[in-house]
Amino acid sequence: DVARLDGFDRHEQVWLGRDTARGLTAIVSIHTTVLGPALGGTRIWPHVSFEAGVIDALRLSRGMTFKSAIAGLPLGGGKAVIIADAKKDKTPAMLEAYAEMLNKLQGQYITAEDVGMTLADADFLAERAPNVSGTTKGGSGNPSPFTAQGTFVGLKAALRHRTGSDALSGVRVGVQGLGSVGWSLCEKLHAEGAVLTVSDLDVVRTARAAEKFGATVVSGDAILSADVDIFAPCALGGILSAETIPQLKAGIVAGAANNQLATAEDGMRLVERGILYAPDYVINAGGVINVAAEMAEGGYSVGAVSPRVEKIADTLAAIFQRADREGRTTDAVAETMAREIVEAARK
Ligand code: NAD
Repeated sequence: DVARLDGFDRHEQVWLGRDTARGLTAIVSIHTTVLGPALGGTRIWPHVSFEAGVIDALRLSRGMTFKSAIAGLPLGGGKAVIIADAKKDKTPAMLEAYAEMLNKLQGQYITAEDVGMTLADADFLAERAPNVSGTTKGGSGNPSPFTAQGTFVGLKAALRHRTGSDALSGVRVGVQGLGSVGWSLCEKLHAEGAVLTVSDLDVVRTARAAEKFGATVVSGDAILSADVDIFAPCALGGILSAETIPQLKAGIVAGAANNQLATAEDGMRLVERGILYAPDYVINAGGVINVAAEMAEGGYSVGAVSPRVEKIADTLAAIFQRADREGRTTDAVAETMAREIVEAARK
């Protein structure tokens, strides 16, 4: 069933862990370890079914293979999903049971934060299990500033590809989501003179953006049809779909959100509308580049991270050029490039 659910990809391992007494149902998916140990965060999410959780873990772990391969990291792709509501069900007992599961995996999977899992949770797990990255104690800490940095240079690479210049002064950018990444991205865009339109469910954040950046605030889905040059999704996945793509006025989509394309066909829908798309797992790799620096010889050094994150701009430029040359979508080209890297290493 796993093969059927996930097309032709054969994941190396899928582990299922259940401890009903302590409220744990977890799936750890290891897609590949060809380039290195499988790294990817643990997502705590109230999936409607066990199958939905497994599918999510399979897709996310495959995405991590692509993300790390394209970023040139010596890492494979892994991801874990705990089926639970992080606000209601996340208890120390549940995390303890999960730490025991991580111990049983004997270091084949390296975890980190993801949706529903905080820095404090990572610290808690790291006291009980091996291979927990992104912790505050001796680890690389919060990845968001690096994700924002990569998204910023990637957005500029897209602008340069489209217009021949990456000067942001007067360029209109719509940012959906003013969380850790979106806010930091807005700071950088504002500093270089971009004109911001923003949306967030949290009105305190939007009010602050209006005050600090002079941003125009729009509510709900109005960000999709905002009159902007660039749309930067920094909130939800699945935001680019048959329903939303016709609404876009932006000529470029470049943002940090994971899994932006609702379906594989949506990459082509963007091309048909003449929109340049920066593939999400390429542009948002700053966070994983930061975590990977923990594995460097001599330990984590923050100074080594930024130059690597800046390279996201070159990688995207190469993807845009190849997509033009081959008449393919940027997301298809990114996947091909990632698979080529993994296959070359396998051989
Ligand atoms: P976050 O939780 O800090 O912020 C998300 C923000 O989006 C919140 O302010 C939330 O209120 C807002 N939001 C939610 N739904 C919305 C909607 N419908 N319209 C407008 N705003 C909405 O998350 P983050 O860490 O900033 O991550 C943002 C995105 O980037 C996520 O998709 C995440 O998976 C992805 N990402 C983050 C990192 C990282 O290092 N944090 C790395 C890679 C990818």
